[in-house]
Amino acid sequence: MNRVALITGSGRGIGAATARQLAARGYGLCINYKSNRAAAELLVAELRRKGGSVISVQADVSVEAEVTALFRELDEKLGVLTALVNNAGILLPQMRVESMDAERINKILTTNVTGYFLCCREAIKRMSRKYGGSGGAIVNVSSAAARLGSAGEYVDYAASKGAIDTLTTGLALEVAAEGIRVNGVRPGFIKTAIHADGGEPDRIARIAPSIPLQRGGEPHEVASAICWLLSDEAAYVTGSFIDIAGGR
Ligand code: NAP
Repeated sequence: MNRVALITGSGRGIGAATARQLAARGYGLCINYKSNRAAAELLVAELRRKGGSVISVQADVSVEAEVTALFRELDEKLGVLTALVNNAGILLPQMRVESMDAERINKILTTNVTGYFLCCREAIKRMSRKYGGSGGAIVNVSSAAARLGSAGEYVDYAASKGAIDTLTTGLALEVAAEGIRVNGVRPGFIKTAIHADGGEPDRIARIAPSIPLQRGGEPHEVASAICWLLSDEAAYVTGSFIDIAGGR
């Protein structure tokens, strides 16, 4: 069976590292991005040079109509979806809870939670044996923040990732008998541009001494766990989480 994966938010960061590893394993790939078209197109060109079957599709995962259009384009151009990596996520400038307004909280929740739900919904319609599909695997990219809480930084973001852990547990049980495995990864302190969005580009250097392994993580170290969870080597794994946070 051809393997086809959608990785949301994969023009850069952990998503792009995952795309590189899945392409090397022979997956047809859909690279999704929200606004950084240049990064997504550079990645597509790199993977095509290596022989990959890759498309890029712009879509904001927090907007329902854009998610349905994304999946329709994937259906037409790549065929049957077998793997979904829910990865597109945001955080906003560090602040305490008493300073947060509804607009900020809702922005975090619609991207980090609603977006994951919508993509799961579309993936299930394509993968589930209940709808004539042949099964598949979903990996939700959560965060160590779901366990740690991100006090003084972004409790809203941490709470959104807590919701993703619950989604992973519940959905894994809901669709297990239909041939779909659902698992989560909980990265922490990975060297990507997301920390600059929180207002502290050098956050990992500050935190590194308090991480048991004494360093930040690399995007490819998260990608390896995602690829394993999607693979047949993990065929008996569902509703599980891999923590990739240097021991924190
Ligand atoms: P990143 O480098 O900032 O990349 C984020 C990606 O998400 C970008 O490709 C961005 O698209 C995309 N994106 C953002 N909002 C989107 C939306 N509404 N619709 C579609 N795509 C959207 O972040 P990262 O560090 O790789 O993070 C990836 C995931 O890992 C996130 O879920 C994050 O919460 C999680 N995570 C990261 C860390 C860490 O330390 N880095 C730790 C724990 C968890 P554009 O390129 O178009 O902007």
